[in-house]
Amino acid sequence: MAVKRQRQGKTYHLKTFMGGQMTPKEAHIKYAFGGRACDKCGAPAEVCVRTFGDIKEVSRRSPQFLLQLARENDGQVPMVDFTYGKFVAMGRAYACKSCEKELEVEAAKAPSWCLVEIDKGPKETITEQVATQLSEGA
Ligand SMILES: [Zn+2]
Repeated sequence: MAVKRQRQGKTYHLKTFMGGQMTPKEAHIKYAFGGRACDKCGAPAEVCVRTFGDIKEVSRRSPQFLLQLARENDGQVPMVDFTYGKFVAMGRAYACKSCEKELEVEAAKAPSWCLVEIDKGPKETITEQVATQLSEGA
């Protein structure tokens, strides 16, 4: 018997998201960023930038840096598998709305062997598509 996946388009509007207590963006800031503050001015963070370095380049350029990372993380170097290969999670920075541009400019200066991930969370006007129901039968 085939299991057929049915999509039930249930759209949650901003007013009903989490009972209207917060917008999706506010929820992202609270749960994904854990209420972090902007690294520059201390205002609540709205953007997170993470930098990853190619493991081969990092170990060639600075083995001491890898050792220090391992020391700070209970003997484990924080590694991430990307489609481009293995990368070391090197750093993380937070910015508020007004410092966002500055942080992006800084992130753009990262060397070519680095990957930069910019997490701005969901858009303010997002509508959540939830509820994928599994039903049996053809
Ligand atoms: Zn700021």
